[in-house]
This record gives sequence, C-alpha cells and structure tokens, in this order.
Amino acid sequence: MEKKYRLIYDENLCIGCQACSVACRVENAVPESVFRLQVRMETQGIFPHLGMQFSRVSCVMCEHPPCVDVCPTHASFQTRDGLVHIDARSCISCKYCILACPYEARFINPLTKAVDKCTFCFTTRVSQSLNPACVSVCPTEALCFGDMRNTRSFVFEKSQHSFLVFPKAHLRTSPKVAFVPNRKGGSHE
Ligand code: SF4
Ligand code: SF4
Repeated sequence: MEKKYRLIYDENLCIGCQACSVACRVENAVPESVFRLQVRMETQGIFPHLGMQFSRVSCVMCEHPPCVDVCPTHASFQTRDGLVHIDARSCISCKYCILACPYEARFINPLTKAVDKCTFCFTTRVSQSLNPACVSVCPTEALCFGDMRNTRSFVFEKSQHSFLVFPKAHLRTSPKVAFVPNRKGGSHE
C-alpha cells in the first residue's frame, strides 16, 4: 500500500541548535552556499522580556506541487507515495520550478548545476525504514516523521493530539510538512 508521509515540526520544542540543518548538509553533501533545510531564528518581545522564535524552511512535499506542473522536461516528478523528486540528469536549469514554488524550497546546486531541494532523505534513509537525517538527530523531538496510515506511529499520535498548521494552506498545495505553532504567536504566511 502507498505511504502517506508526514513530517511535523513543533516550534515549542525547537531550541534552535541547528543539529537538523547540519545533519541535512552532511547527509546530502549540500554545498555551503545553499541549503535544503534552514531553521530561522527571530527575536521577539520588548527588552527585557525577549524570546526566540524558530521557523523551519524546506520543501514541504506538496500533494499538489506547482513545481512539477511547470517543469518542461518532467525532471521534477511525483512518486505514487506523493513525494516530489528531481531527476538531475533531465533538469535543464530553466528555473521555472524555483519561481513556481511558494515555499523558497528550491535552488541551483552549484556542484551539479541542476535544481535541488529536500527529498525527505528518501533514497539514503526513508526507503530503508530510517527517519530523515534531520529527524534522527533532533535532541528535543521537535521533529517527527512517519506514515499516517500507521495508526500506531508517533506521527499519527502527535497529529491526533496537536494543533497542526499546514503552511500557506490557502494555496491548496496540501503540504506533507506541518507545524505545531509557537504558543506565543508567529506566522508562516
Ligand atoms: Fe515543489 Fe516547493 Fe511544494 Fe516542494 S514545497 S513540492 S519544491 S512546490
Ligand atoms: Fe530545532 Fe531539533 Fe533542529 Fe535543533 S535539531 S534546530 S531542536 S528542530
């Protein structure tokens, strides 16, 4: 049966340690000048009552991906499990998909010269029943990942008991990445 993957990022548990973004860079050999995953930090409040707000930027694996719709060579494609991947050999670097993606998720990889983005570490980890690298190193369980069809999985349980926000839901792209918003506020619009 096809999987129904979901990744949840809980802003309340994130401490901004960057273990996830470093693990992503190492796992996928992402060059320094670009990123597949960023945890952004923002100071909130008025001195002396200051706090940090963290947010995650990466491909959200849209169920209805505009990047795939615009690709003239079908280098960007979607699997039966709904994951969006790029065949670097077919990519002509026209950048249509970079413009079409509403989530700032795509970039030109300076090494391959093709468009690149997060893959949920599908080839190296998820296909072998491992978590994506970012999820595996998070020290606070701010990240969790799994198959929503497995009703005994942690990701299913967390979805049942959390208030989830799907980024830019008004665009109807149906992301597979959801956020538990910071209880002190913040927005991903
Ligand atoms: Fe495509 Fe961007 Fe959606 Fe990822 S987040 S599937 S790159 S449109
Ligand atoms: Fe936040 Fe976990 Fe990433 Fe650290 S590893 S920045 S706690 S999501």
